[in-house]
Amino acid sequence: MTSPTTAAQPLGFGRIFTDHMVVAEYTAKGGWGPHRVAKRADFQLDPAASVLHYGQALFDGAKAFLGHDGKLRVFRLDAHLARMQRGAQRLCMPPVDAEALRKSILQLLDTDRAHAPTGEGQSVYIRPILFGTEGFLGVRPSESYTLFVILSPVGNYYEAGTKPLRLWVEREDVRAAPGGLGEAKTGANYLASLAAAQKAKARGYDQVLWLDAITRNKLEEVGTMNLFVQIGDTVITPPLDGTILPGITRASSLALLRSWGVNAEERAITFDEVRGAVKAGTLRGIFGTGTAAVVAPVGELGTAEETLTIPTGQDVSPRLLDAITRLQRGLSDDPNGWMTTV
Ligand SMILES: *Cc1c(COP(=O)(O)O)cnc(C)c1O
Repeated sequence: MTSPTTAAQPLGFGRIFTDHMVVAEYTAKGGWGPHRVAKRADFQLDPAASVLHYGQALFDGAKAFLGHDGKLRVFRLDAHLARMQRGAQRLCMPPVDAEALRKSILQLLDTDRAHAPTGEGQSVYIRPILFGTEGFLGVRPSESYTLFVILSPVGNYYEAGTKPLRLWVEREDVRAAPGGLGEAKTGANYLASLAAAQKAKARGYDQVLWLDAITRNKLEEVGTMNLFVQIGDTVITPPLDGTILPGITRASSLALLRSWGVNAEERAITFDEVRGAVKAGTLRGIFGTGTAAVVAPVGELGTAEETLTIPTGQDVSPRLLDAITRLQRGLSDDPNGWMTTV
């Protein structure tokens, strides 16, 4: 389907796929069947399948990187699988067979190894998805599920590359509310975000800065990334209170910052506090973190009343980006055992 790519070829994000996929099926009676690596192909679904009607679907997104030494390494695969396990529980789905899934993902990567791109910033995006397949219109969890893993050779997520993001501060739509699905990687959260993202783009912004559903003042996430703010020497990220997606890049960034002796706090931070820090000249930077972009600096926040210019290049984000991407490429030590060689 795709051929090995060269550094010069722009891959985009999630546009092309490799030739194979992992397939596994679950039934309430029989449990999980084997996790097979098969040719990537269309599949059949009952028109009454629960995923189509009630959105019972959970996904994840990890990446594998081809190092200059020719080795293919996955970043924090076990953390991704553990997050799927928690998400499956939240969405009333059966526990994934983490060991079978882990083995089959490594086997899939090995099978399609020739598709791994070699260019700067390029990688193999790993997309597992678990969804309800039972043909039944009653509202209850499905009794049968399918799990797929597909691979997509990808480039930098943001077409603008490392250009700082311009964010619209969203005061009308919310991504997630307390008690809702915000901490699960489910399509419903993305669906909730589409209209606001579209409106932000129409206003000339790249993405949305999400605020909390109750006070509409606490910062939550940046588009589909976790959010970090640096004020003076302190780095702040909102706590995992149920509305924030527990990002693996977020957790890795906190661990790295703390290992460097940086004061990294998990606490609520309001838009008022950010505005105050901008006015006082103490705001050093704002950035998003996620598997797709790793670290993405923010250069501007816009509201109906004002535009805040956010300094860039003066915070920890360039150091974080460098440390994480070097680790992913196998160019630095891996004291935490975050990389799995295929
Ligand atoms: C996936 C995701 C993130 C980032 O998580 P990573 O594990 O770092 O990729 C952040 N926010 C949302 C809403 C997400 O879906």
